[in-house]
Amino acid sequence: MCDLALLAANSIKGNFGQRFASYDRSMREKLIFEQKIVDTMVESLQREEFLVYLQPKVAVDTSRIIGAEALIRWKHPEFGMISPADFIPVFEKNSFIYSVDLFVWEKVCHMLRDWKKKGITGIPVSVNVSRTDLYHEALPETLTSMITAYGLSPEELHLEITESAYVQNSRQLPDAIRRLKEMEFIIEMDDFGSGYSSLLALKRFPFDLVKIDRGFVSGMLQDKTQAAFVPALTSLVHNVGRRVCLEGVETMEEYEAVQKLGIEVLQGYYFGKPVPAEVF
Ligand code: C2E
Ligand code: MG
Ligand code: MG
Repeated sequence: MCDLALLAANSIKGNFGQRFASYDRSMREKLIFEQKIVDTMVESLQREEFLVYLQPKVAVDTSRIIGAEALIRWKHPEFGMISPADFIPVFEKNSFIYSVDLFVWEKVCHMLRDWKKKGITGIPVSVNVSRTDLYHEALPETLTSMITAYGLSPEELHLEITESAYVQNSRQLPDAIRRLKEMEFIIEMDDFGSGYSSLLALKRFPFDLVKIDRGFVSGMLQDKTQAAFVPALTSLVHNVGRRVCLEGVETMEEYEAVQKLGIEVLQGYYFGKPVPAEVF
């Protein structure tokens, strides 16, 4: 009973307005799920039960695929396919994320080298870089030696950095971003608009491309107020001299609505869902 009460208490930790909570079963299930994924993560990575899927990025002017985003999937022996939303936050908490991200980056480099051998070029792949990866002092050098080992150049492996990475205002982050830029990596700001510090981050960091969060597309056709965001954010990003990628375009109607805004790149289920590399 004490353990379960503690779980309930932890669920309102930091929430000063709420003075009591009651336990329900889902709290324990969540804990058990998290413990199980933590218990199995190392072995699972060794057994390569993590898969890398690709989702196309499309140029608005030509409607052609001009890149892809690499998105991780976990084919768990007990739970089946688990979404990154369920395990990335856990890995960010316990620092395992860096090992997982290194695995994904290496897989993508390997794939890009294979494509090159087959004569497939001009499709850079963006990988996600977790906020905690940026705290690894040697990150820029690690990435550079990885691409060199696979005979790639930095413009073939784009880096998507989620904007929550900028919430903590340490000096390490700007420094890491500056060094990555010096090494000629293309840096994309992920999920723009979804966090608290996005505008300052846009002001402060030299991104090449800004990915507007998909939350701004959903609902834009139903409501006039909602419709104002995508055009306004697009012109803001353009005014500071960066390119725009709009995430989450799901329907033809949405595609038509955003086509004339001058957005450079689109990504979303309308063009293609994340799929295994062979399918891509
Ligand atoms: P993200 O980097 O913003 O990736 C885009 C997410 O939106 C993906 O979810 C993608 O499947 C989904 N998406 C794309 N188009 C649409 C659409 O039209 N409609 C809807 N409803 N969703 C769409 P996914 O694959 O579940 O990944 C979720 C998040 O997990 C990613 O968000 C990223 O932050 C994180 N993530 C995924 N793979 C990695 C990885 O290898 N490393 C790290 N550190 N994080 C990763
Ligand atoms: Mg991303
Ligand atoms: Mg995103």
